[in-house]
Amino acid sequence: MDQDSGEIPPVDAGKIVESWARIRGRLRKEVGDVEYRNWLRQMSLAGVEGDTLFINMPTRFIRDWVRDHYSDRLRMLCQAELPGIRAIELKVQPPGKAAPKLDEDEDPQLAENVLVAPARPAPAPSPAVEPLRNEWLVPLEPRFTFDSFVVGKPNEFAHACARRVAESPAQAGFNPLFLYGGVGLGKTHLMHSIAWALREREPGLSVAYMSAEKFMYRFIAALRSHNTMEFKTQLRSVHVLMVDDLQFLIGKDNTQEEFFHTFNALIDAGKQIIISADKAPNDLSGIEDRLRTRLSGGIVADLHATTYELRLSILQAKANHAGVEVPARVQELLARKIASNVRDLEGALNRLVAHAKLFGRPISLDTVPEVLTDILRAHDKRLSIDDIQRKVAEHYNIRLTEMASARRSRAVARPRQVAMYLAKQLTARSLPEIGRRFGNRDHTTVLHAVNKVTELMAGDPAFAEDVTLLRKMLEM
Ligand code: ADP
Ligand code: MG
Repeated sequence: MDQDSGEIPPVDAGKIVESWARIRGRLRKEVGDVEYRNWLRQMSLAGVEGDTLFINMPTRFIRDWVRDHYSDRLRMLCQAELPGIRAIELKVQPPGKAAPKLDEDEDPQLAENVLVAPARPAPAPSPAVEPLRNEWLVPLEPRFTFDSFVVGKPNEFAHACARRVAESPAQAGFNPLFLYGGVGLGKTHLMHSIAWALREREPGLSVAYMSAEKFMYRFIAALRSHNTMEFKTQLRSVHVLMVDDLQFLIGKDNTQEEFFHTFNALIDAGKQIIISADKAPNDLSGIEDRLRTRLSGGIVADLHATTYELRLSILQAKANHAGVEVPARVQELLARKIASNVRDLEGALNRLVAHAKLFGRPISLDTVPEVLTDILRAHDKRLSIDDIQRKVAEHYNIRLTEMASARRSRAVARPRQVAMYLAKQLTARSLPEIGRRFGNRDHTTVLHAVNKVTELMAGDPAFAEDVTLLRKMLEM
């Protein structure tokens, strides 16, 4: 970027403040609100010297992050707004402090999203032990990167935690990182993203990603061939261990024991552990308490069920790379109809795109039902209160007529409450409508049932499992 210095127009000081506001606004638009809030909101203008614009950042951590991820964008925007500027420089200056203090934990913004514990310097790589054999590792999926992960309310916390761990692994407070959520909500995607990011930043780091099943399989194989020492040494030589779908390890005592020891050894040695599961550590049944405690000892982040808005953003992002036009109305229809998980949503989109390419017919509201009959029907299934009553009665072995009867003995009242609860959860019926279908009961009775069942589920895991199972069967 060499230019004759004589040609640089002078930067007008009065204009700078105004331009700065515009630069921030454009950056915010480009990166989205969440990223902006996490990383950029706290930048402040420090001044201009010659052709350099100085920007203050509140912490070193944020400064480094912004430098690595946004400085090109930032420089281009600054150059566009302020033609005299050729370079930007990011300085660390905690807000309201005279001298820069190199402490990232000062950041109130991050603290609000992410539990920030005192940072430690990154652990020194341990002396070379035998490298982990490749066959242990599942190849990373090239599609699963942070760039392709769409952030919205339901996953914003998990995403921020994942970013944080990818940025500085093995920091106290973030180790282990425990990600949980239902099927197809992006757990594996986030884990692979962390692995890709780490690999890119620090190629020397050994990152092991494996499914819990693979872990178990390897361990059993090692047991059989009397090779557990090697298994352990190799596992413990990694810097970052990721175990996906931990729920599959449950109930396998030997493997769990081994996992526990590996886990402890790695954490104690300052290595990062990342776990995913379908439930929070406290809700995983069949694991030992000491493992549960260890699993909750870092940060636990959940991926909530998607919202319509998130589904739509994901579809928009994917449609942009589809190679054929996906009309907005079609995206809206899919986002509304296919609410269960992102995998199904992607599947539907992929099929529409494949169909359009194959037959050279543009995607439209007309082709959707034609191409996706089965998928839409599966998601369209309207459960009736009858279905629910029948299934619940069958499950608790009571007569269907008891659903509407006046009997109040626990043996029939509890199943009835469960049925009311499920009717509320799984249908669009109002409380009075539901009440009418249960022997003309009042809506307050239904409300009481919903609250009662919710309360019981929170306090009694066996009962909760029962209700969840019923729900799953009904939703199938
Ligand atoms: P899980 O491991 O939680 O079952 P995955 O990570 O395998 O779910 O995600 C299922 C599919 O949905 C993947 O193809 C993934 O890329 C996609 N997906 C899930 N969440 C998102 C998201 N927020 N943005 C983009 N794609 C997503
Ligand atoms: Mg997964």
